[in-house]
Amino acid sequence: MVQIYDITRTVSPTTHVWPGDTPYSAERVMSISNGESVNLTTLTTTAHIGTHADAYYHYEADGYTIGHMSLAAYIGPVRVVTVRKESGPLMPTDFSHVDLVGGQRLLIHSHVSDLPDDQWPDEIVYPTPELIAWLASMDYVLIGLDSPSVDALDSKDLPGHHALRQHHMVNLEGLMLKDVPDGDYELIALPLKLDQACGSPVRAILRPLTTS
Ligand SMILES: [Zn+2]
Repeated sequence: MVQIYDITRTVSPTTHVWPGDTPYSAERVMSISNGESVNLTTLTTTAHIGTHADAYYHYEADGYTIGHMSLAAYIGPVRVVTVRKESGPLMPTDFSHVDLVGGQRLLIHSHVSDLPDDQWPDEIVYPTPELIAWLASMDYVLIGLDSPSVDALDSKDLPGHHALRQHHMVNLEGLMLKDVPDGDYELIALPLKLDQACGSPVRAILRPLTTS
C-alpha cells in the first residue's frame, strides 16, 4: 500500500490562531441523540485555521480571493527540507546543505512541527524576499512552512508575503512535518473554493513520487 503522510494540523477549538483571530468552533444544530434524523454542524472559524493557504487578497487589496487562486501550484512534486535554524530570516545560504535545483515546491521543516496544535510558536523561521526570489528564479511555485507566517511574527509590511505575489508563487502555512523524512514527494493541498475569503484550510498530504 502507498504510504501517505498526512501533514495537516487537526482543526479543533484549541487549535492556535493568530492573536485576536477567530478560533474554530463546531456547533451542533441537529442531533441524532435528540431524535433528529442527522447530526448537523455549523462551523465558525478564521479562514486561516490550522494548515492553510493564503490568498493574495489576504495581504493585497486587489489580490485574488482564495477561490480564484490557481490550483496547479497546490498539486505536484515537492521537496521537504529540514532547517537547523530555529528563528529568524532564511536566506538561500540556509539551504546550502541541500540541492534545490530542479524542484518546484519547497516545504520547510522547522522545530515548530514538534509543538502541539494548541501551542503558539514564539520563535519561527521565515523566508526572506531574497530566498523567495531565488526559488522563483528556479521556477518554484510554492513554499510551505510549519509556522503561522512567511514573515516575522511582528512584521507589519510583510515583505515575504508581497514577494510571493510578485513572483506568482503561493504559500502554505501551519504544516505538520513531524516524522516526515526529508526528500521528494508529491504534494496535494487544495484550498476550498470559498467566495470572498482571504484563505482556506487545506488537507495537505504527501505521497511517494510515481516513477512511471
Ligand atoms: Zn495565513
